[in-house]
Amino acid sequence: MTDPKNPVELAQALIRCKSITPEEGGALTLLRDVLKEAGFETFIETFSEPGTPDVANLYARIGTTGPVLLLAGHTDVVPPGDVAAWSVPPFAGEVKGDSLYGRGAVDMKGGLAAMISAAVRYLSEGGGTTKGSIAFLVTGDEEGPSVNGTPKILKWALARGETFDHCLLAEPSSVERVGDEIKIGRRGSVSGILTVHGTQGHVAYPKQADNPIRRLLPLLNALGQPLDYGTANFERTNLEITSVDTGNETVNIIPSKVTARFNVRYSDAHTLDSLKTLIAERLERAAGDTRYDLEFLPGASSSFVAEPGPFVDMVVSVIREETGARPKLSTGGGTSDARYIKDACPVVEFGLRNATMHQVDERVSLSDLETATRIYQRLLARYFGAQIKLEPADLMAAVSGAVVEPPVQEPAQLESLQADFPEPPANAISVESDLEALLEAELNLTGTEAQEEAASDSKTADVEEPAGDLVNTPEQRR
Ligand SMILES: [Zn+2]
Repeated sequence: MTDPKNPVELAQALIRCKSITPEEGGALTLLRDVLKEAGFETFIETFSEPGTPDVANLYARIGTTGPVLLLAGHTDVVPPGDVAAWSVPPFAGEVKGDSLYGRGAVDMKGGLAAMISAAVRYLSEGGGTTKGSIAFLVTGDEEGPSVNGTPKILKWALARGETFDHCLLAEPSSVERVGDEIKIGRRGSVSGILTVHGTQGHVAYPKQADNPIRRLLPLLNALGQPLDYGTANFERTNLEITSVDTGNETVNIIPSKVTARFNVRYSDAHTLDSLKTLIAERLERAAGDTRYDLEFLPGASSSFVAEPGPFVDMVVSVIREETGARPKLSTGGGTSDARYIKDACPVVEFGLRNATMHQVDERVSLSDLETATRIYQRLLARYFGAQIKLEPADLMAAVSGAVVEPPVQEPAQLESLQADFPEPPANAISVESDLEALLEAELNLTGTEAQEEAASDSKTADVEEPAGDLVNTPEQRR
C-alpha cells in the first residue's frame, strides 16, 4: 500500500499507471482513493464530445467554508517515444541513483504526488481537517486536445456551485533549482497563414510570369518587425515564421502562389483582436499591389497574468522560506491549463524542474520531490492560517489581474514608436510621453518610406531583451 505522505511512493505508483492521453490508466482512481482516505469528497467525471476521445477527470474537496484553495494538475502524459532509448522502462517507476525515472516524473505526476502528499501531511497535522477548503482538480487531458479535460470539469464544478479563491497548478515551472521560477501568467498564442498570389510561368520567361516569392519577401519583413518591447510582466511579443512553401519541386517553373505560416506568442500589450489588426495593417501597408490572403487559425488563446498581490506574495515567501531564494516571476513558455482556470480564479504555477519533461529518461531527483512537497505543505499552512489577511479588496485586485485589459495602442503608434525610439524602454511601452514625436513621425511616413522604416526597424530586433528577471514591484507596473 502506497504511503500517501511519501511523494516518492505516490509518484512511483502514478508512473506505473500508463495514462498516455486520453487513457486514464488507473491514475485518477488511484488519486481518488488516496484523497477519499484523507477525508475528501471525490468525483470522477467523464466527458465526451464528437470527434474527441472521452476523458476522465477527478474533482475532490475537503471543507465546506471559504477560502477555497484549488490545487490543480493532470495525470495524462505524452507517449514515451523510443522506449529502447530509455535507460529504464518508462512506466516502471524505478528509482536509479538519487532520481525517480519515468514518463510523467516531472510533467506532472511528480508534482501532483508532491501536492497530494503535502495535503495529506497538512491535514493529518490538523487532525484531518482544515480551515477553509482544499479542492483538487485533476484532468486526464492536458497533453491532448484539452477539450474534455480542465475546461469541462471546471465548468462542471462551477455548475455545482463550487467557487475558488486561488489556484496553484503543479506544472513544472522550475528551471535550475526547485522553486527558482514560478509562472504568474502565460503569453497569448495565435497562428496564421499568409498566402501570396502570383502568376505561374517558365523561369526563362519571367516577364510572362509573376513570382509570388518575390512579392512575399516584403510581407515577411513586415511580419518580422517588433510587435512590442515587453511589458512589466511579459517578455516582448515574438512572431516566428514557421514555414514558407510553394509545393513546387521543380527548378524551371515559377509557382503561382506561396504560403507562409507563422505563430505569435504575445504579451499583454495586445488583445487577440488588436494583435490581429496590427498584423493585418502592417501587411496591408507592405503589400502594395500584391494579392494576398491572411487567415488566422482557430484555437488562439489570450495572454493573462495574476497581478502581484497577496497570493503571489504568499507563494513567493513560502518558496523563499523553504529554499532560501526568491523565485523569479515568469510568464514565459508555452500554454497550460492555467488558461482555463484563470477564468475562475487567479492561478499561479509552481512545480518541479522542467529540464527532462517530454524527454527520454524523464526523471526527478528524490530531494526535489521532498522540497516541492514541503513548499506545498507550507503554502497550505500559510494560506489557511493567513486567511483573514486576504481582504476582499485584495482578492478583487488579484482576481481583476486575470482579466486585466491591456492598454490598446493603435498599430501605427507602435510602428512610429519603433521608428523614433530604436532603443526600447526597459519595461513597458511609454505612450503619452512620445505623443509629439509620434505625430511627427506619422506625418513623415508615406508609402515607400514605410519600407525604409521597416528596414531600419529590423535593427531594433537585435537590441537586448528587457531584463529577463520579471520580478515585479507595484511601482514597475503602469
Ligand atoms: Zn504538464
